[in-house]
Amino acid sequence: MLDSLLNNVNAYIYVKNCEGKYIYVNQKVAELFELPPEEILGKDDSEFFDLTHYQALKENDQDVLSKQITIESEEENFVKALNSTRCYKSTKSPLYDDSGELIGLYGISTDITELKTLQKDLQKKEQLLNIVLNNVDAFVYMKDKDRNFLYVNNKVADLFGYEADFIAGKLDSKVLPKETADHFWQSDKQVFERNEKTVVHEVIEEDDQKLHYQSVKIPFELESGQQALIGFSTDVTELYNLKESFEKLAVLDHLTGLNNRRIFEEQSNKEFNRAKRYNSPLSIISIDIDYFKKINDSYGHPVGDRVLIETANNFKKMVRDHDIVARMGGEEFAILLPNTFLNEANVIAERIRVYQLTHGISGDWGDDIFITLSIGVVQRRNEHEKFDDMLNLVDKALYQAKDEGRNRINALK
Ligand code: GH3
Ligand code: MG
Ligand code: MG
Repeated sequence: MLDSLLNNVNAYIYVKNCEGKYIYVNQKVAELFELPPEEILGKDDSEFFDLTHYQALKENDQDVLSKQITIESEEENFVKALNSTRCYKSTKSPLYDDSGELIGLYGISTDITELKTLQKDLQKKEQLLNIVLNNVDAFVYMKDKDRNFLYVNNKVADLFGYEADFIAGKLDSKVLPKETADHFWQSDKQVFERNEKTVVHEVIEEDDQKLHYQSVKIPFELESGQQALIGFSTDVTELYNLKESFEKLAVLDHLTGLNNRRIFEEQSNKEFNRAKRYNSPLSIISIDIDYFKKINDSYGHPVGDRVLIETANNFKKMVRDHDIVARMGGEEFAILLPNTFLNEANVIAERIRVYQLTHGISGDWGDDIFITLSIGVVQRRNEHEKFDDMLNLVDKALYQAKDEGRNRINALK
């Protein structure tokens, strides 16, 4: 039984005496050496291996015998019978007789070539992956549902100021300031709740500087069934700052194409100074759509936008070329009328009010939408030192028109 067990086990099993001569080999060893067992017994490794291998094996055996220890080793041998280099994991231990005297050693070797190949493949892939992850211009990280980091690439590690290995397995609040960790968690939580790829804009403050990140976060399930996410964040601070400065430079309101408030005030200041210098009349009309919130509420925000665009176009059509029309914000508009007296401005305002009252705005939302306007009108006064004074006054006039019931003009004499 023992014989057939030893011959059928998928391992090379042998016993050598203290001179290094084989005193037992199982079937597998015999096959490896391509000799019947009786021709192997009594011989040492010099008969079966080349000189270098033989020396190495001998030294190894010597260690087991002289130090009386078990030695585990991995060795690569060229096997003639298989015409290939195989890798073995070997365990060699000293062997004693019944009286406890050392009589040799026994060894068990298993072929781990396939395992080794797999390991090497895996190592190669891991190496490649690490090269990619650590050189890509993005912050790459994995987190679980309990806010633990599972992985961070070197870019993240540098940003947080720790080694990547230190961060893996740690709670976010252990490696980040609490506010920052909480900020990131807000969007992480969304990814877990929705269980879908999410793109977010994240901002963190560092040394009084705001850093902007465009982050893509993707949920996935770990092998254990636990929920996790992988995130890719790119630093878009420079782009974001550029966008902001462009927006500041912009002169047109993005929705209606009218002048925006900034450019309106800039041009109005110039007109104001000119009018003051030449003592010419200058008037301003301020318009606010009545109950505009109701339009959004009943038709939705996009239809509200369409109404704003149509109304803006109407204003533009009804004034002269040198008048300056602007969207001051929301559903508020202003028109600056150079060389215009109050009563003339009042006429224009009335024309606008009536036009809007009688011309509904049509579209695919069903019935035409009618809006009414509350309007303030003011002419520059000598007591006005700057354009702002005029603007404040016309706003007062407008709110008075609202108070008095809307859909009306309040021209302050
Ligand atoms: P009032 O007669 O007192 O002026 O009432 P109102 O509803 O017009 O005024 P309120 O200031 O309460 O609401 C203004 C609304 O305008 C609220 C806001 O949602 C809407 N709004 C502001 N900007 C836009 C925009 O760009 N598009 C759309 N669709 N709605 C906007
Ligand atoms: Mg309004
Ligand atoms: Mg308003």
